[in-house]
Amino acid sequence: MSDGGGFARLPSAAPLRDRDVAEPMAILRERGQREVFCGLTGIVWLHRKIQDAFFLVVGSRTCAHLIQSAAGVMVFAEPRFATAIMEERDLAGLADANEELDRIVERLLARRPDIKLLFLVGSCPSEVIKLDLSRAAARLSARHSPGVRVLNYSGSGIETTFTQGEDACLASLVPEAPVSEEVAQDLLVVGALPDIVEDQFQRLFAKMGLERVSFFPPRRSGAIPAIGPNTRFLLAQPFLTDTARALEARGATRLSAQFPFGAEGAAHWFSAAAKAFGISQERFDEAIGPARARAERALAPLRAELQGKSIFFFPDSQLEPCLARFLSQELGMRPLEVGTPYLNQELLAPDLLALPKQTRLSEGQDVDRQLDRCRAQKPDLVVCGLGLANPLEREGMATKWSIELVFSPVHGFDCAADLANLFARPLRRRAGLKV
Ligand code: SF4
Repeated sequence: MSDGGGFARLPSAAPLRDRDVAEPMAILRERGQREVFCGLTGIVWLHRKIQDAFFLVVGSRTCAHLIQSAAGVMVFAEPRFATAIMEERDLAGLADANEELDRIVERLLARRPDIKLLFLVGSCPSEVIKLDLSRAAARLSARHSPGVRVLNYSGSGIETTFTQGEDACLASLVPEAPVSEEVAQDLLVVGALPDIVEDQFQRLFAKMGLERVSFFPPRRSGAIPAIGPNTRFLLAQPFLTDTARALEARGATRLSAQFPFGAEGAAHWFSAAAKAFGISQERFDEAIGPARARAERALAPLRAELQGKSIFFFPDSQLEPCLARFLSQELGMRPLEVGTPYLNQELLAPDLLALPKQTRLSEGQDVDRQLDRCRAQKPDLVVCGLGLANPLEREGMATKWSIELVFSPVHGFDCAADLANLFARPLRRRAGLKV
């Protein structure tokens, strides 16, 4: 069932330097059947990022299977996630779920003294029976502090998409940050990035003359940076709406920029920091120039390959608008439709303004209608979730799994060509099949 779609207008904002984008863009809003993963998926990359954290999903066997199959192949050491499985007795209210949860946490912490931060992660079943995990987290934190902090967030798939798991997790971490009373300005980079990307960013900021730079989430839970009115923050991911709100409530200021995908996107992102911290154009160019030139050289052959190819995004990761900006602005691809589960126009304004005027922007999903539009437009490449990829491949379309874009290092200058290659590869594979 669907309530159909409606068009809305993007509020006008100052156009970016080199695009003729003064016209507001129409947005198709749909609220029908959707095909997306749930927020538990974020645990797959978050448990590798915060190295002394543990994620305990309070959910069903389905939740356990999802996490196990999504993350299982990547586990080389003892995993830092598990599921406290709710049985029928819990769901029927015949057992005291809180008592059982306390027992499980007790056992877990006794067996794993390396855990310093424990996330209780809510799921659809825990939300349906209204198990109050925030009270459970407060109770368990009081019992196990100061050695272990216990926080909670929701990874449920009820009306959410999979990247919201990271947003909810990081938003729950903000109150744990010490309050900064410093006057000197700090820069905070927000969003879970692979360590290798973080190190590259740190080096470039240092070359620009910025030393007071921290990353959120930190690699260890004891190193959460202090946050306050002196904090300027740059989002590294476009899906961190709640986290941004929590940081702003702490007095921090968000720096608006294109997201750091591709050479131009990364340059735009770094330049937002340069402007906010009064770095001269000369110093900025000196610091960023070589990495930017390297990225542009690496992208040149991919531009020749991808130029003019059409692409259709189904909503999944919330990265879609900034990836479409990268592919059109830097590689000459033609985004026909850019679907995204939720559209935060404020966070994404610089990327949205750089999209081609003829691109259809859609928010939410009515999967059957969207499939009809996709088939009618016959794009060269479709970016979609796993559930749609196989049927569309069978119909002869080249597809890219959107979830891979969240698992792979794709940010910044050094990953620009790798990111472009993720889109070029399915086209090469399909061209190879036709020979
Ligand atoms: S949280 Fe909900 S959508 Fe996710 S695996 Fe569990 S039951 Fe399924």
